[in-house]
Amino acid sequence: MARYDYDMIVIGGGAAGLTASTACGSVGAKTLLIEKEEKLGGDCLHYGCVPSKSLIKSAYAYNVMHYAQKYGLPAVDLPKVDFKKVSQRIKDIITSIQIHDEPEHIQKKFNVETQFGECKFLDKHTVELNGKKITSKNFVLATGSSPAIPLIEGIKDVPYITNVEVFSLDSLPESMIVLGGGPIGLEMAQSFHRLGSKVTVVECAPGILAREDEDVSQCIADVFIKEGVDLRLSTKGVKLEYVNDLFQLTVDKDGQLSVIEAKCLLVATGRAPNVDGLNLDKADIEYDQRGVKVDKRLRTSAKNIYATGDVNGSFPFTHVAAYESGIAMMNAVFHLPLSADYTNIPWVTYVDPEAASIGYNETRAREAGIEFTVHKEFIGGNDRAKAEGETGGFIKVLVNKKGVVIGCQIVAFHAGDLINEWITAINGKVSLNTLGNAVHPYPTMSEVNKLASFNYFINASLLTKLRLLLNWRW
Ligand SMILES: Cc1cc2nc3c(=O)[nH]c(=O)nc-3n(C[C@H](O)[C@H](O)[C@H](O)COP(=O)(O)OP(=O)(O)OC[C@H]3O[C@@H](n4cnc5c(N)ncnc54)[C@H](O)[C@@H]3O)c2cc1C
Repeated sequence: MARYDYDMIVIGGGAAGLTASTACGSVGAKTLLIEKEEKLGGDCLHYGCVPSKSLIKSAYAYNVMHYAQKYGLPAVDLPKVDFKKVSQRIKDIITSIQIHDEPEHIQKKFNVETQFGECKFLDKHTVELNGKKITSKNFVLATGSSPAIPLIEGIKDVPYITNVEVFSLDSLPESMIVLGGGPIGLEMAQSFHRLGSKVTVVECAPGILAREDEDVSQCIADVFIKEGVDLRLSTKGVKLEYVNDLFQLTVDKDGQLSVIEAKCLLVATGRAPNVDGLNLDKADIEYDQRGVKVDKRLRTSAKNIYATGDVNGSFPFTHVAAYESGIAMMNAVFHLPLSADYTNIPWVTYVDPEAASIGYNETRAREAGIEFTVHKEFIGGNDRAKAEGETGGFIKVLVNKKGVVIGCQIVAFHAGDLINEWITAINGKVSLNTLGNAVHPYPTMSEVNKLASFNYFINASLLTKLRLLLNWRW
C-alpha cells in the first residue's frame, strides 16, 4: 500500500498551482489540486492580467476614437461609456479562457484531480480539507497574494475597492483616486481616465514605477500628465473619510496637508502573501510579511514542501509563477537539483506606451557594481511608429565591458512584444553584431531593436579602433 494518498498536493489553483499540478500530473505523479474558490484560474484570470488587459484595450479604443482627426478621419462626437458593457466584455473574455482551467479538462488532459475547499496543514505530510485528512509525499504551496492595504487612518471604515472589485463596477465612476503609482495602479488609472473618469494618482515615492530607471518612469509620467491624469508624487495618504458618497483623502506633501475628493477609491499599494488559515507553523514552514521563505530550489523550510508564485514574494508575475512551478516539479518529482535563476526575468507594465524590461537596468547594474555602457535609440525615428502615430518612447540597451548585453528597457507602443527579441538575444547570448546585421522586415517597430544593436556595434568598434590607435602611439 502507498505510504501517502498522493505524490503531490498543490494548494492554490492560480497560475502557479495550475502549472505545478499539470506538470506533475503529466509526468505520472498522483496529483491533487486544492482550490478554495469556486473556480480555478486565480488572480491572473479573474482579477489580474486578463481583465486588466481587456479593460486597457477598451480604454485604448475609446481614446483612439476621441483622436480620430489625428488619423485624418472625421471628428467623432462620442457618447459616454456604459461601464456595464465594458465589464460584460471582460467577463466574456474570462469565460472564454476559463474553459482551459475546468477541473474536468485538467483531469482528462493532465491526470490531475481537483477538490475545492480551504485546507490547513496538520503536519508536513498531512492537510485537512472539508473535515478529511489527506496525506502527500510532497506539496506545492501556490496560494498567491492579495492586495496589501496601507495603514491609513479611517481606511477600514470606507468602502474602497481593489483589483477584485474594479473590473465589475456597475457604472463608470465620475472620479477616482488611485492609491499607488505601481504597475497595477497606473494601468487602472490610465484606463479609467481614458474611459472618462477624473483620475488622481497618489504616490508617496518621488516617482512612479519604483522598479524602473528614472528615464523610464519620467517618460510614462510625462504621458500621464499630458493626457490629464492628476499625478501627485511624494504625496502620502494619511486619513480617509467617506461623506455623502464621497471619499475624502487627506494627503501630506512636504508637511502640507490637503484633501482630495473622489467618488471611487482604488487601493493598489502592493501585494501581501496569502498565508492565513493554512497552519503553516504545523508544517514548520517559515514565512514573513514578504512571503513564504524558499531556497534556490524553491523548497520551504520543510523540504518536501515547495512555494511558487506570488506567495513566495519573489516576482509577482504570471510567467514567473509558471517558471517557478516547473522548477518545483523537476525538483520534487525527478529529484533534479534545479535552481531558480532570476537574472533574466522580463516584465511589462501595460500602460500606453508600454514599459518593458529584461535583465539589469542602470540602477540594478550600479547596485551590483557592474561596469556597463548604455546605448539609447528613440522610437520617434522609426518609420512604422510614424505611420502608426505611436512615436513615444525609447529603447535602452546595457552592455558590459566584454560587449555582452546585460539588460534592455523599452518604452514604446507594444514594448511588451518588442522585448521578446531581447529575451532571445540575452538568453541565447546573441551578439549585438548578429542582431544588428540580421535583416528585419520593413516597416516594423522591431527595426528599432536592429538599429539599437547596429549603432551600438558601430560606436563600440570605432571606439575600440581609436583606443588601439592611442595605445600604439603611446
Ligand atoms: C490587476 C493585476 C494585473 C496583473 N497583470 C499582470 C500581467 O499583465 N502580467 C503578469 O505576468 N502578471 C500580472 N499580474 C500578477 C499576476 O496576476 C500574479 O503574479 C499571478 O496571478 C500569480 O499567480 P499565483 O498562482 O501565485 O497566485 P494566484 O493567481 O492569486 O492564485 C492563487 C490561488 O490560490 C487560491 N488560494 C488562496 N489561499 C488558498 C487556500 N488556503 N487554500 C486553497 N486555495 C487557496 C486562490 O483562491 C487562488 O486561486 C497582475 C495582477 C493584478 C492584481
